[in-house]
Amino acid sequence: MSRTADLLVRNAALVATCDGAGRELPGGWVAVTDGLITAVGAAAEPAPEAARTIDAAGCLVTPGLVNTHHHLYQNLTRAFAPAVNGTLFEWLTRLYPVWAGIDEEASYLAAWVGLAELALGGCTSTADHLYIAPRAGGDLWAAEIAAAREVGLRFHPTRGSMTVSRKDGGLPPDSVVQDDDAVLADSERLVAAFHDPSPASMLRVALAPCSPFSVSPALMTATAELAERLDVRLHTHLAEDLDEDGYCLERFGRRPVDQFAEVGWLTSRAWVAHCIYPDVSEIARLGAAGVGVAHCPSSNMILGNGRICPVRDLHAAGAAVGLGCDGSSSNDMASLWLEARTALLLGKMRGGAAAATARDVLNLATRGGAACLGRMGEIGELTVGACGDLVVWAADPIAHAGACTDPVEAWLRCGPGRARETVVAGRVLVEDGTQLLAGIDDVLARHRAVAVRLQNAQVG
Ligand SMILES: [Zn+2]
Repeated sequence: MSRTADLLVRNAALVATCDGAGRELPGGWVAVTDGLITAVGAAAEPAPEAARTIDAAGCLVTPGLVNTHHHLYQNLTRAFAPAVNGTLFEWLTRLYPVWAGIDEEASYLAAWVGLAELALGGCTSTADHLYIAPRAGGDLWAAEIAAAREVGLRFHPTRGSMTVSRKDGGLPPDSVVQDDDAVLADSERLVAAFHDPSPASMLRVALAPCSPFSVSPALMTATAELAERLDVRLHTHLAEDLDEDGYCLERFGRRPVDQFAEVGWLTSRAWVAHCIYPDVSEIARLGAAGVGVAHCPSSNMILGNGRICPVRDLHAAGAAVGLGCDGSSSNDMASLWLEARTALLLGKMRGGAAAATARDVLNLATRGGAACLGRMGEIGELTVGACGDLVVWAADPIAHAGACTDPVEAWLRCGPGRARETVVAGRVLVEDGTQLLAGIDDVLARHRAVAVRLQNAQVG
């Protein structure tokens, strides 16, 4: 071990590497240098010297969790009284006029707060599906990217879009949709300006028309072609709700997955949110194509979507499955730990007590997410050469009392649900359970002012 590491996390109760073999290291340690993991070892192996050391005694150490689906801007409308308890379509219809007032300041503040919240819950990499473009809103994507750079999470913003408004039979008002050409031109601009394809990249852009019921088939096709040309990933919502089945059958004469294939999206370049309604043959098609799925348990339950994502079946068919917290107002709480626990419970509910284990779900939250974002080997695992993204989870003395045999099962069953330390690229973002960012009080005050403004002045 020649060189001094930048950071050494040592003396863990257990290091769960989430590598291909599922290696777990009692008493283990992880060294990070220049943003990358340079060594991982068990208790008996000598650890390198380091400029900074974190003692993880009694703690579980995992890779940083990966969030594969979110709408950060929605934390401006959490628990919004006129929309809560509606179905997906009712909920959307009530919120679009509020979101129509979002501008650069709102996008920046929502992203800042949302990313800080994710870091507290042990998330180190996140996608964001930003799909509204209010006419006077400015560059919402550049604004959220600026926030991500300040907060320090690894960020996968997506250039979302909607083109079908109420006058064309869709749900959103005219003021938040664009035409196909404007969407495609701006998608290309954002990729050119911000997308970094290099290894260990902190920012990659994907293209993400909102859903089969909010953009034209022509835009879906053109977006898939553009993603191919620019070599970026594709993201959208798919098979989330029975209303979507009805809409697609009536409008296109096909079920949502058939329509997805028809517009050229049945490719391993794509990952989709939800996917709770595919039938057996559709699961096989999605899996064979290598489509990724962002399983969003809390959102599906809160919106009463009526099904549970067939995680095991999708896996068996060849699909990658990760976890997503989904938007801040269809979940209201952006915690990947909570999504992992909920996925554990739903997996058991759907398939029996042995159908989902804490290790299965930890893999969804790490390796599965990495696969959805096209970053296997880079993130979601503690292996030499991977990004230096990790979480130290403390065992709460009361909540863990009596949990003596399995730190991974205890992590998901007992809590505490918040990271003690969250590290991204070797940089400590959360320490002793506290977000280290300066200026958080000021940002929260501004966020509150914007949230109140938006909710008091709905734009039509
Ligand atoms: Zn969503």
